[in-house]
Amino acid sequence: MNYKIALIPGDGIGPEVVQEAVQVLETIGEKYGHSFTFERVLMGGCAIDAVGKSYPDGTAEKCKACDAVLLGAVGGPKWGHATEPEKRPETALLSIRSDLGLYANLRPAALRPALADACPLKPEVVPNGIDLMMVRELTGGIYFGKRERYQTEDRGEEAADRMAYSEQEIERIGRRAFELARLRRGKVSSVDKANVLETSRLWRSVMHRLAQEYSDVTYEDVLVDNAAMQLVKDPGQFDVVVTENMFGDILSDEASMITGSIGLLPSASIGDTAPGLYEPIHGSAPDIAGKDLANPIATILSVAMMLRYSFQLPNEATAIEQAVDAVLAEGWRTADIAETGVTPIGTKEMGRRIREKLV
Ligand code: NAD
Repeated sequence: MNYKIALIPGDGIGPEVVQEAVQVLETIGEKYGHSFTFERVLMGGCAIDAVGKSYPDGTAEKCKACDAVLLGAVGGPKWGHATEPEKRPETALLSIRSDLGLYANLRPAALRPALADACPLKPEVVPNGIDLMMVRELTGGIYFGKRERYQTEDRGEEAADRMAYSEQEIERIGRRAFELARLRRGKVSSVDKANVLETSRLWRSVMHRLAQEYSDVTYEDVLVDNAAMQLVKDPGQFDVVVTENMFGDILSDEASMITGSIGLLPSASIGDTAPGLYEPIHGSAPDIAGKDLANPIATILSVAMMLRYSFQLPNEATAIEQAVDAVLAEGWRTADIAETGVTPIGTKEMGRRIREKLV
């Protein structure tokens, strides 16, 4: 089987970590008899330098002609001051998500066994580790509602942001969460603020309808303030956590932090049709770019998610995850996760050691 992948290396450490992930895919291809072809796509700051806009014409079409998209990271201080949207790297991120219809953002937060010490929580809080999947609605809610700023007569300036959700938007993300739970430990925690917000009350009623349909999945409602607390009090209780855009933005960062390092966490953004977009959760890390210091694991694990969710190749995905765990278990660390006294290895060596575990 041949799979075509759009590669968006982007800026900063993006090209370095994408390069390692591509080599992992090639090794998987050799071992399991798949062929991967790659189409390089220019996006982000490098595209501003090359053609004057962060999201060049035809970017979405190039990606749609592929089976999946792998993104490194975009942005950096060089392009941080522009005010025109087309000269801002993050415009490209919002555009590609919207053009590809990527409404579900999947962010696993797992404590890798060899890195249990990196978890900032006390060991007794995480006796069985952490293995949860945040499912965040990505294209609706307050980030996409009408924004207003106006002068009042007696209270100075006032601003308002509209938060709206339709039944259809809630149902499609809800279904994703229940389907994922069936592939995992069979539990969905739906996070809302139904004691205050009308959008949350609609969210909850749709989720309850789905919970009846997916009666084999355990379901619970969690208020967002309680969810923030439970994530640090007892994160092991969660399997799939589904929530709207803004709550998900905040809680997924909290969930990432309790697992230790930003350089380890992958993500997937998917819609109803191909291609899904896979990327590490970290940014372009301009402070370490070009120095062979970046941790490629988050991008390599993003490729594992691509194999599992876009190509339905769970064995190949698991092989990559086990290779990562095996290298970490042997004590190899990049600088971001190295304990005191451990000599760190570079990006390329980490990639090579992971590939060696695959063959
Ligand atoms: P960042 O994630 O790039 O870096 C934060 C810190 O973590 C830095 O100290 C960095 O060196 C370190 N770090 C990040 N990834 C690492 C890795 N793989 N290995 C080792 N260390 C790593 O976040 P930031 O500094 O806030 O943002 C830098 C740029 O990235 C900004 O321009 C921002 O807009 C952009 N950004 C892009 C994306 C994306 O493309 N999806 C996401 C977040 C930030």
